Amino acid sequence: MDELRNELFYQQKNGYDLIGTEERIAVEDYSAAYMSYLDASRTEREAVTNAIALAKEQGFVEYVPGMELKAGTKVYRNNRGKALILAVIGEKSLSEGAVIAGAHVDAPRIDLKQVTMYESDEMCYFKTHYYGGIKKYQWVTIPLELHGVVALRNGELVEVSIGRRAGEPKFVITDLLPHLAKDQMTKTMAEGITGEGLNILIGSVPYADDGKDRVKLAIMSILNDSYGITEEDFLSAELTAVPAFDVCEVGLDRSLIGGYAHDDRVCAYAELKAIFDVENPAKTCVCILADKEETGSDGVTGMQSAAFDCFMEDLCDQQGVKLRHCYANSFCISADVCNAYDPLYPEVSEKRSDSKINYGMGICKFTGARGKSGTSDASAEVVAYLRKLFGENNVVWQMAELGKVDQGGGGTIAKFMANRNIDTIDAGVPVLSMHAPFEVVSKFDCYMTYKGVLAAYSAK
Ligand code: MN
Ligand code: MN
Repeated sequence: MDELRNELFYQQKNGYDLIGTEERIAVEDYSAAYMSYLDASRTEREAVTNAIALAKEQGFVEYVPGMELKAGTKVYRNNRGKALILAVIGEKSLSEGAVIAGAHVDAPRIDLKQVTMYESDEMCYFKTHYYGGIKKYQWVTIPLELHGVVALRNGELVEVSIGRRAGEPKFVITDLLPHLAKDQMTKTMAEGITGEGLNILIGSVPYADDGKDRVKLAIMSILNDSYGITEEDFLSAELTAVPAFDVCEVGLDRSLIGGYAHDDRVCAYAELKAIFDVENPAKTCVCILADKEETGSDGVTGMQSAAFDCFMEDLCDQQGVKLRHCYANSFCISADVCNAYDPLYPEVSEKRSDSKINYGMGICKFTGARGKSGTSDASAEVVAYLRKLFGENNVVWQMAELGKVDQGGGGTIAKFMANRNIDTIDAGVPVLSMHAPFEVVSKFDCYMTYKGVLAAYSAK
């Protein structure tokens, strides 16, 4: 019976039962490099800047239309500093399609409003408008850093980063003490902290003179001294508060990684490392680091933008290939995180179908909500292709579905790739506490996601 069971049943194993010492070392080395990338990439802009720096070390050059492209040429296009596409030209013509991996580098955060600064009772604050799907109560009473850019009227771009380097001040959104929270505690978790209540404390010492708004004047003077900006310059700024936690190992066995914005920089890094490591690819490999996924992929740097098509069309034109023919033969891994089964919240999960920590790269055949609405739903043939590919390349992987049916739902860039007539499937790293200021992933799953993307890029 055991024999028959082994033959007929689908059985999953913990990933650590499937790898040896050598691969365990590879998991650690990979994770250390990822942790330093994540620690230094607090915004989509920083994720792009750091990715370009790494790419240049690997011989990638900025793509110039018409430049000589031959097998092995490595190029990138920077889309407005907030999204990035890299490509390694393959041996085959683009008429046979490209192998694409697309992740996103934006993450939930607390953006400053354009008219942001105000003083109340001799305390100074920034008003904010949060970005992406957050549980607001998680963002109070944690240390925050300030990152972003101020675009001056003269065209100059002032870069701001306060709180990341040792010794720099940090910021915080305060919360009510329990002693006075009788009314607050009766509210739902959705209502206990409001959007307009997410105001960031930025100072308390008044300017040494008479008049109103003395604290605000003192704070604005500090900003003017440091960055040469005035209050009006906030109107054309993109400044954001992000959690100030360092990326770190979690657990006594150090098997997990805690940090802000694993979703989806963990897959962005996996793709980057994979496109750096692919050797003599048969088909052209394309790596996308997209922006605006957390708000629906709209906008000029989002995956619905024509920026991607323009880049691919430029490459196709040089080979005399029609873009639509290239797309029809292409394959895309929409590399995005999935939810890891959390033993603390079994009530929202369907254990057989949720991805599990340390069981490898999570493959989502479909996402969506309420009867798979809003999903691209990869075909059975595409899933079979990955089964074969991952099997041949010792990639540990698992199926991943987002919790119980009708419990919630979500989306990724997959449908926007599939809408272009590209066979697309979601696959990525399972995450605990997704969208929280401090998310958790397993080192093993991070490494297997890299291996999975590398296998796709390396396919002959
Ligand atoms: Mn995501
Ligand atoms: Mn997300």
